[in-house]
Amino acid sequence: MTLHPVHMGLLNKRALIRQLQKAGVASRAGLARSLGMSQPTAGKIVDELLADKILEEVETSVAADGGGSAQLGRPGRQLQLNRSQPSFLGIQLGIQETQLVELPLGATDENVRQITFEVPYISQKPAAVWERELRAAAKKLRAKKFLCVLLSVPGLVDETAKRILFSPNIHWTEGLDLPAMVRRIWNVPVLLVQEERVLALGYHANHPEHEDFFLVDFGDGVGGAVIVGGKPLASPLPISGELGHTPVLGNRRKCGCGAVGCVETLVSTRGLLQSFFVAYPKKKNDWVTLIKHSVEKGVEPWLAQALDAAAVAIAGALNVLGLRRVVITGALMELAPSVLEHLAEAVKKGAMWARFGEVECVGAPRHRTAGLVAVGIDRLIAPETKHTKKS
Ligand SMILES: [Zn+2]
Repeated sequence: MTLHPVHMGLLNKRALIRQLQKAGVASRAGLARSLGMSQPTAGKIVDELLADKILEEVETSVAADGGGSAQLGRPGRQLQLNRSQPSFLGIQLGIQETQLVELPLGATDENVRQITFEVPYISQKPAAVWERELRAAAKKLRAKKFLCVLLSVPGLVDETAKRILFSPNIHWTEGLDLPAMVRRIWNVPVLLVQEERVLALGYHANHPEHEDFFLVDFGDGVGGAVIVGGKPLASPLPISGELGHTPVLGNRRKCGCGAVGCVETLVSTRGLLQSFFVAYPKKKNDWVTLIKHSVEKGVEPWLAQALDAAAVAIAGALNVLGLRRVVITGALMELAPSVLEHLAEAVKKGAMWARFGEVECVGAPRHRTAGLVAVGIDRLIAPETKHTKKS
């Protein structure tokens, strides 16, 4: 198969950015060598990326790739993804709170400046309130121009059609053209992305050695995302990873999705607090108290029941998808370490692979920043194109 030069260029660009994401800093010569490109080819891509402010040059005393490249042109000059100037604006829409973050391409941790605002539950016209608050928040940002806006939202998201189809915890967003509302403030492309997918891509960016896993995030809701071969699992319908809405037999709690008995009603922060209240009606019923309680008492029967229900759903997903690695993020990680241990053991009980092989269930922080940047790079800076398109 012959590749069109434009396609070839994109592939090289993508590979070079990937390499810098992994290496942090590298010299021109080092990049060319590690990617198996000729120096002129690598140099041309680097110049383009420097002009677009995607890369930046930094002075270092010793060349990071062993110093051998110092003779080849620019001694001590290294390249890195732009860390000084934000390229993307990340907007994360939560149940009540929306966060705005200015994202340089080289942002690697969660230490980015955030601006937040709330849309109260009781708002009469939540969409109008949201747009108004967003406009006010925009004025507080340091950067005024961005290459694009990455809008992370919960629920069932048709990322291609840029529509939220269904949102169990934020129904007002359903069917709305949120990207159009954002474009009225920043007239740049807006990419809509599902929030658990962001977390999964963020985990992958921080752990490129893990290419296949199921990430499950616990918070106001419970959701997941599947990464296979380093990419989000492609499914025929714009739904995947929706673990939280698996019914648990005997559970009569009503869920925001309209069903009864969803596992989310047991293991979301709200669900856990509800069970904590039933077990300890006289104790203060807030998350901080629950954290302390879990550290003192470990996994009590009421908590074990909720965790076991979640584990059954997770194990079922592993068996069906053919995965053996689970990554847990979010509120559960704030509770006593024995909580994750209990969940991991329960997952192994239900995962068929564990009968003869190894099943891993590990905890991790939410790498939201890295995830948003990864989405922006993959979809805007160096998008992957289909090989079969005509030249
Ligand atoms: Zn539900």
